[in-house]
Amino acid sequence: MSVNHGTRRARLAAMLGEYDVDALLVTRGVNVRYLTGLVSSNAAVLVRADGSAVLATDARYIETARRVCHDIEVTERRDVAGALVQAAGRPGIESHDMSVAEYHRLGGDLTPVERLVERLRVVKDEAEIDALRTACEITDRAFADVVGTIAPGMTEKRIAQALEARMVELGADKPAFDSIVASGPNGAVPHHAPSDRPVERGDLITMDFGAMYGGYHADMTRTVALGAVADWQRELYDLVREAQRAGRHALAPGVDTETVDAAARDLIAAAGHGEHFGHPLGHGVGLEIHEDPFLRSSGAGRLEDRVPITVEPGVYLPGRGGVRIEDTLVTRAGGPELLTRTTKELLVL
Ligand code: ZN
Ligand code: ZN
Repeated sequence: MSVNHGTRRARLAAMLGEYDVDALLVTRGVNVRYLTGLVSSNAAVLVRADGSAVLATDARYIETARRVCHDIEVTERRDVAGALVQAAGRPGIESHDMSVAEYHRLGGDLTPVERLVERLRVVKDEAEIDALRTACEITDRAFADVVGTIAPGMTEKRIAQALEARMVELGADKPAFDSIVASGPNGAVPHHAPSDRPVERGDLITMDFGAMYGGYHADMTRTVALGAVADWQRELYDLVREAQRAGRHALAPGVDTETVDAAARDLIAAAGHGEHFGHPLGHGVGLEIHEDPFLRSSGAGRLEDRVPITVEPGVYLPGRGGVRIEDTLVTRAGGPELLTRTTKELLVL
């Protein structure tokens, strides 16, 4: 399924009526990519209320831009925002992206517009979901290929490297983010950076990683046991798995994000571990690893159809260790589509 960037720009143009602007100057790289297909570290696109658009980029990207963005005007300039402001009447700017210095440098009548393209990106088309599905398949396969090689003495860093190398071998653009491998007591730190600690018998090992494919980010976490499982570890695992299941089952178009969060969080709190689960239940994934919507205990918002999102409860016991289980799913009217399909049975290596 191919992507129609013109349709995306038309949808953005239709949203500009909410603001007193006649165009939006899009400077955030990921949003430029979404609206034009161009991947560049220096590009901007001006989308006018009538749906027409002009893209600016510098000499390094101009050939690619002319090929990828053949249906819009393309102009070569190092000062991409400056070039496009001149081509606009009363433009909106992405105020969450532009620095204050850049805002003053551009001058003129610029209206702050916040996260409009981000809002447009929440609901994915099937081409985007296809890319994400492939990213998740690569993630599943890399896990299957690497998990059997984990043995006492292997360091967290070595495990992370093995996962990342395997994902690239399997066709990933690159890892979607810096992989987390947290063993034993390190598992109590949700975003632990892989260290030189060798894994030992009796450890729980939490691996949080994913592939990027076609620009789309997979995100999966599994916690496995090495050698033997203590009763407290099994109990913790079963609790987190139950909470994760409850969160997944609560995902549906029309449901409040905080209701989904509560479905998982209430189970963990009822088991006495509310204070040991300090992060949101999940987040949207797409062209970014963390994007709207977020599943948190506060904050408004309803889920829509075709929204890729993670469900990732965890319980973290300081000094002892932790468990997190995370899947990437897509909301669907008939029930969520599970994209990361690795088993959630406790694997004992
Ligand atoms: Zn993750
Ligand atoms: Zn995540």
